[in-house]
Amino acid sequence: MLDMSELRAAVRSEGGVSRRLFLAYGAVLSSLPLVGARAEASARRLVFAADPFSLGVASGEPTATGVLLWTRLAPKPLDPDGGLSPETVEVAWEVAADDGMRKIVQRGTTIASPQLAHSVHVEVDGLNPDRWYWFRFRAGDATSPIGRTRTAPKADATPEQLRFAFASCSHWEQGYFTAYEHMANDELDLTFHLGDYIYEYEGRDNLVRKHAGPKIRTLADYRIRHAQYKTDPHLQAAHARCPWVVTWDDHEFENNYANDIAEKAGLDPVDFLEQRANAYQAYYESMPLRPRSLPHGPHMKLYRTLPFGRLATFQVLDTRQYRTDQPNDDRGSELNDAALSPKNTILGAEQANWLKSALLRSTGTWNVLAQQVMMGMVGRSRQAGEPAKYSMDQWPGYAAERMKLVGFLAERRVPNPVVLTGDIHSNWVNDLRVDDRKPDAPVVATEFVGTSITSGGNGSAKVDGLDAMLAANPGVRFHNRQRGYVRCTVTPQSWTSDYRIVEDVKSPGATAQTLKSFVVEAGKPGAQPA
Ligand code: FE
Ligand code: CA
Repeated sequence: MLDMSELRAAVRSEGGVSRRLFLAYGAVLSSLPLVGARAEASARRLVFAADPFSLGVASGEPTATGVLLWTRLAPKPLDPDGGLSPETVEVAWEVAADDGMRKIVQRGTTIASPQLAHSVHVEVDGLNPDRWYWFRFRAGDATSPIGRTRTAPKADATPEQLRFAFASCSHWEQGYFTAYEHMANDELDLTFHLGDYIYEYEGRDNLVRKHAGPKIRTLADYRIRHAQYKTDPHLQAAHARCPWVVTWDDHEFENNYANDIAEKAGLDPVDFLEQRANAYQAYYESMPLRPRSLPHGPHMKLYRTLPFGRLATFQVLDTRQYRTDQPNDDRGSELNDAALSPKNTILGAEQANWLKSALLRSTGTWNVLAQQVMMGMVGRSRQAGEPAKYSMDQWPGYAAERMKLVGFLAERRVPNPVVLTGDIHSNWVNDLRVDDRKPDAPVVATEFVGTSITSGGNGSAKVDGLDAMLAANPGVRFHNRQRGYVRCTVTPQSWTSDYRIVEDVKSPGATAQTLKSFVVEAGKPGAQPA
């Protein structure tokens, strides 16, 4: 293993953070599991002290011919090494056309290596388009639960319907993952997680559940935190039911970070990037992501395109890793010159260019941005007559880039743009205009913001000052602060978003109900109540 203290000394002697050195670190790290792994993997029959599949199984990243299968071996999930010795383990996998695993269509073996926390990322290809499949793993004497997954329709097919859910902000301590339980029962084709899958804070007493360990910093800390979350049976059930498409927000690493800049000033950037490398690696290890997402040190490319036939094209964004520092006060500021500066970027130049060409290449009826923070420019005044303040951690902190992007959607006539958002622990439906401060301008896109799974506890059905906020922001069509997720039904003619509410996240087994549904008709921008 590369010695981190040597690396840090070398980085410091260069007089600053050298990205090249971190890249070198990443290259060493990522090459390790491949070197000699196959030769080392023993054919002996392993016997585990406890079930090595304690974190369940998952799948993700469906294409028309394949899908990514995931598991991580961890007989003792809260141990730093997952309860395994630092040796490679051979893991067998099989994919079947039936839920009883009788009609096996593919099988193979792969290596779980200690360098990647004995995680397994199997890329299966050569499957039929638009079909359900079942899969499981075997390691030593243990067999995993069976997961269900599916492929996407062919690129030129127009499926009649896509049913998916999106979720965000699942805080272990602040509630039970009952929303995931309902998602698992919803017969979804796909699930999107838009960030804050874990929270980084230390364990606190007197909450619903307690985080294991201190505020997370080291690779072992991040691994243990992800493992603790993955022990949740409802989260496991939701992962086992359909493929997931994940992207991170801030809490997978640290609150409100911007690229290599921490929320709090004064942190050593070398320390911060080392911590980011830990966070990103544990994220990769814990998620059903393709090996091309494997991080290199503190760099991990997460933005990508996922088509679902001609029905919808999803552009999955990363608005954390490349952004410039939030202007003004993260929490709120007027849209002043600093907020409107064209130097601010939330996507970074490379991702912004990629996004534009990806949108132009898309053949989808619906063009979806699956991303983190709110794009709607919502201004809030504490008192009537006071100037409105906008969140600088969200797209309004990057208002020039945001207006350019919505302008691009309009000018290039990108068909039916829809933005999916997490982050703020509340539900919103927003009509998006190039500049939301000009309500007479045409609506270009619709943003559906989903509330948290648990973050913030139960929230409330009543929002103080709601009427004044709605009156000041005509683009906002709906706002609510309860918990849950958003379920979407997409057809060539219309898009329906159901705001699913779990009233009580502090006791297990709460029911879910649809509080409100909104519809967008294809070719007619703007959401209407269903
Ligand atoms: Fe959150
Ligand atoms: Ca967040």
